[in-house]
Amino acid sequence: MTTLGTSLSYVTGSTSGPWSTYLSQVDRVIPHLGGLARWADTLKHPKRTLIVDIPIEMDDGTVRHFEGFRVQHNLSRGPGKGGVRYHPAVSLEEVMALAAWMTVKTAAVNLPFGGAKGGIRVDPATLSPNELEKLTRRYTSEIGVVIGPQNDIPAPDVNTNAQIMAWMMDTYSQNLGFTATGVVTGKPIHLGGSLGRVTATGRGVFVTGREAAGRLGLDLAGARVAVQGFGNVGATAAELFASVGAKIVAVQDERTTLFDDNGINVTPAGREPDLKARRVDHLRGEAISREAFWDVACDILVPAALEGQLTAERARRVTAKLVLEGANGPTLPEADDVLAERGILVVPDVICNAGGVTVSYFEWVQDFSSFFWTEDEINARLDRILVEALRRIWDLAESKRISLRTATFLQACERILMARQERGLYP
Ligand code: NAD
Repeated sequence: MTTLGTSLSYVTGSTSGPWSTYLSQVDRVIPHLGGLARWADTLKHPKRTLIVDIPIEMDDGTVRHFEGFRVQHNLSRGPGKGGVRYHPAVSLEEVMALAAWMTVKTAAVNLPFGGAKGGIRVDPATLSPNELEKLTRRYTSEIGVVIGPQNDIPAPDVNTNAQIMAWMMDTYSQNLGFTATGVVTGKPIHLGGSLGRVTATGRGVFVTGREAAGRLGLDLAGARVAVQGFGNVGATAAELFASVGAKIVAVQDERTTLFDDNGINVTPAGREPDLKARRVDHLRGEAISREAFWDVACDILVPAALEGQLTAERARRVTAKLVLEGANGPTLPEADDVLAERGILVVPDVICNAGGVTVSYFEWVQDFSSFFWTEDEINARLDRILVEALRRIWDLAESKRISLRTATFLQACERILMARQERGLYP
C-alpha cells in the first residue's frame, strides 16, 4: 500500500517531501540554461525505479518481508552511483530524490558517473547481525539485475557501512561466479576498499567549509560550530573542525543533544572506532532540548543527519554565518529563501558532501587497475578536486548573482544536459 501511495504521489506531483524539494531546485536553474532548457525535463524523470520484496527468515523462525528500492535517476554521463540507506522512513519518493541529488553531485565535481540511490525500509537496530546479513544479501540479489561495476555502483549511506558493502560485494560476486570488487565502494580496505573513503564525506564538508570560511573572512581557529548528526559525516567533520581549533559548541544525534560553550571534546579517549557507531551520549556536555539545538549561538552550522531538518521556522533562528550541508537535502526550499534573506551562506549538499562520492570514484578506479594509492595521495587529490569545483561554482554564483546552490545546479545541469544533447534520443 505504501509503495502505491508513494508512486502515485510522484505521478500526481506531491507538494512536499524531498522529491518536491529537488524539483523546486531544478525549476530555479531552468531560466539560466539557455538552449539546454529544452532537455531539462530529463532531470525530472528518474530513468529506472526498482521496488523489490525482500523476504527473510528471522532468528525466531518467522518470515518477514521488507521493501527495498534502487533508483537510477540519470545515466547520461556514466554508470549510476549512490549509497544504500537502511531506515524506517525510506520510501520510493525519498530514494528518487537522493538518486537525483547524486546525478547533480557527480556532475558538479565532474566525475564520470550518473546518479543512483537505494534503500530498505527497516530499522536495522531491531535486527540481529545474522538477520542484517540475510537482509543485505537478499536485497543485493534482488537488485542484482541493475547493479554492476559498469552500470550502477552502490556505497554506504545512513546506517550502512563497510561490512554491509562486503556482504553486497560477496553476494553479487557469488551470483556472477567471480570476484567483482568494483560493484560497490566503501568496502573494507583488504577487499579492494580505498584508504580515506570512510572519512571522505566529512573531510569534504571540512574542505568546502574551510574554503567558504576563508572567502567570508571567518577564522576557523576559535570558530563556534554546531553539528547535527554524529555518524560517519557529522563525527568526521566535527573532528576535523576541532583539529584546527574550532569549538564544537553543540552536537545532536537521534537520541541526544549536548551543548558546551567552551567546546565539546568530540574525540574522547577510547572512542568507538566505527564512525557509524558514534553516539552523542558518550560525549560530555550539558544536555539541552532537541529544539534548542537550532538556537545555539554559532558561526558554522553543519546539518549532517537527514533531509528536511532546516525548516523556514528554524532558519529564522539560526545564528550561524555559514551553513554546511553535510546531509543530503537538509534545507527546505522556504528555509533556503529565509537564509538568503538573512545573508547566511549555504554551501549546498551537492558540493559540500561530494567528498564521499569523489573518493568512491578513486576506489572504483583503483579496483579496475588493481593498483592502490596512499592515503596522503587520496586526501590531496580530494582536496584539489573540491577546491577547484567550489572555486568554479563560487565564480559562477558571483557572475550570475545567484545562490551557491543554483550555481552548483547550473554547473552540473549544463554538463548533464550537454551529454544528453550530444548523445541524442534513441530511437
Ligand atoms: P550515519 O548513519 O553514519 O549517521 C547518521 C547520524 O544522524 C547518526 O548520528 C544519527 O543518530 C543521526 N540522526 C538520525 N536522525 C536524526 C534526527 N532526526 N535528528 C538528529 N540526528 C539524527 O549516516 P551518514 O553516513 O553520516 O549520513 C548522514 C547524512 O549524510 C545523510 O543525509 C547521508 O545521505 C549524507 N551523506 C552521507 C555520505 C556517506 O559517505 N556516508 C555521503 C554523502 C552524503
